[in-house]
Amino acid sequence: MTPLPRHPKLVTGKVRDLYDAGDDRLLIVASDRISAFERVFATPVPDKGRVLTAMSVFWFGELADVLPNHLVACDGPAIPDTVRGRAMLVERLEMLPVEAVVRGHLTGRGYADYRRDGAVCGLELPRGITESARLPEPIFTPSTKARPGEPDENIDFGTFVSILGRALAEEVREASLELYRRGAARAAEQGLLLADTKFEFGIGKHGGLVLADEVLTPDSARYWLADGHRPGRPRPSFDKQHVRDWLVGPASGWDCVSQLPPLPPEVVTATRDRYIEAYHRITGLCLADWPRDPA
Ligand code: ATP
Ligand code: MG
Repeated sequence: MTPLPRHPKLVTGKVRDLYDAGDDRLLIVASDRISAFERVFATPVPDKGRVLTAMSVFWFGELADVLPNHLVACDGPAIPDTVRGRAMLVERLEMLPVEAVVRGHLTGRGYADYRRDGAVCGLELPRGITESARLPEPIFTPSTKARPGEPDENIDFGTFVSILGRALAEEVREASLELYRRGAARAAEQGLLLADTKFEFGIGKHGGLVLADEVLTPDSARYWLADGHRPGRPRPSFDKQHVRDWLVGPASGWDCVSQLPPLPPEVVTATRDRYIEAYHRITGLCLADWPRDPA
């Protein structure tokens, strides 16, 4: 991680590093690390930290009328030069110990749960839904936020209420569904489907719910090409699915237990290209211009 002389390090996450910026603020620095199945690869993906940061900042702006967010600044004197472009100064929050997942299409762990139980997070779904098919309505499928190295656990809404209390649980569910709908609408205008995503929230010092962490990035969301939709099959995606597929495929030689193998250069390049393309498609902006110098 990048040492910052004026900011004490607080936490090293799988992908991001948190520093104390004083005044109830944090500096969140997105690295080029990439994770899969709760583990981190030793091989970085160049420019990934810039994409995560630029895309979160874009979405915080787009979604600001739905809910306040933690972003204070992403450029200017508060951001050290060495991490410019991949750092955000944010309000430090009391994070909720849950992950707020919304699914508009059924894939990944949601699809696996559905195949086994006919339900996801206690929500019964119609029979015969195929892999990656669109759901009749987006569904809220929360999970716990596990300790490092442990998998998050899907929970039903009753359990979610027992963790947060009813009023807050309902507020988080409604906010998450609305954020998803807004994100999916923008993605659709740009020729992409927002299959599913995860949000994290915290409570600000005045007690209100605040959107935190990263938002609708290729690390926290699945984006698919809208064209060529074939339910029953995985789709071309602009997220880290490519890395997961390589890892569980025969080429990686990974036994699901040992340390992750190094990523081959072609997987790194393909992943980098997908992250950058997701940014270009969603925002209509160019990563080379990020962060923009004030005019
Ligand atoms: P996690 O599963 O907790 O996300 P991680 O290893 O994926 O762990 P990163 O996502 O790399 O961690 O690091 C970001 C961490 O910062 C997360 O734990 C997230 O909950 C936390 N975080 C994000 N925004 C804020 C905020 N405004 N105040 C306090 N903590 C925050
Ligand atoms: Mg995280």
